[in-house]
Amino acid sequence: MGWNRPIHLATIAGIDVSLHPTWILVAVYEIYMRAGAYSSLVWNVLELLALFLIVTLHEFGHATACRQVGGRANRILLWPFGGIAFVDTPERPGATLWTLAAGPLVNVALAPILAVCASLATTPAMVAANPDAVVFLHNLVYINLGLLIFNLMPVYPLDGGQILRALLWYPLGRIRSLMAATVIGLAGVAGLFVLAALWHDLWLALISVFIVTYCWSGLKRAREQWKLARLPQHGEVHCPWCHSAPPAAELWRCAGCQQTMDPFSNAACPQCGVRGQRVSCPYCYHASPLSGWAGTGAAQSEAPVAAGSR
Ligand SMILES: [Zn+2]
Ligand SMILES: [Zn+2]
Ligand SMILES: [Zn+2]
Repeated sequence: MGWNRPIHLATIAGIDVSLHPTWILVAVYEIYMRAGAYSSLVWNVLELLALFLIVTLHEFGHATACRQVGGRANRILLWPFGGIAFVDTPERPGATLWTLAAGPLVNVALAPILAVCASLATTPAMVAANPDAVVFLHNLVYINLGLLIFNLMPVYPLDGGQILRALLWYPLGRIRSLMAATVIGLAGVAGLFVLAALWHDLWLALISVFIVTYCWSGLKRAREQWKLARLPQHGEVHCPWCHSAPPAAELWRCAGCQQTMDPFSNAACPQCGVRGQRVSCPYCYHASPLSGWAGTGAAQSEAPVAAGSR
């Protein structure tokens, strides 16, 4: 059981859609908070299901775009702070940009559709016969626009912040763009905290805490990578995922003897002689067999041994 175990809902086009159990707690809280919005709670439930559907479509936008550019996407998780599409995008700014933009573009596409539905339904007869339905359709317009605006705020790791990062990637490179985006994110989240205090919005405050922790770990990661990038590099070798040259240092731990080693200097561990380890990239964290790293010229001696990075 456990409150941390996602509930699997469906598999659509090879993508597993699951729901974090805390989402249900939030749903109950939301229905309770907005109990007066309609004459019956049924409409509150419908509104929540619609929100759920819109967020899912948004995440499908990310996942589909990611696959389109040659990445992997096979899982969507809906949790209280929104949806997460687990995407493994090729490490190129263009591919990243398209994957990120496709989510908000779903909301952009939905906006006119929802607006037309709402305005068609707003007739005197309909308002008299079923005022809840009219309110519901209008609320969907605002929910969709609200999600769009929130997601596009240039605050890492929201879509807007990640889009900003991908744009900065062109002039600044991968590491400095991450640093810049997380610093801007930390500045932006200060604004969110002020808004949360002004509006007495507990939810916005919680999201802000989440953003701070995410920005902070992103900044730490960027600083670590910055240090690695200043070490001497194996300029002739490239990660098959992100094409970064690995640092020429004993950063990796041998799976056989746990000693640190540099697999790009010695294909076999100098201590225990184990060969053909998988080597994780210190920049994109993908593990690839040594022979998969372009330029290694390593013999295809792939013993099934794994090595973690550092
Ligand atoms: Zn998104
Ligand atoms: Zn890499
Ligand atoms: Zn070893």
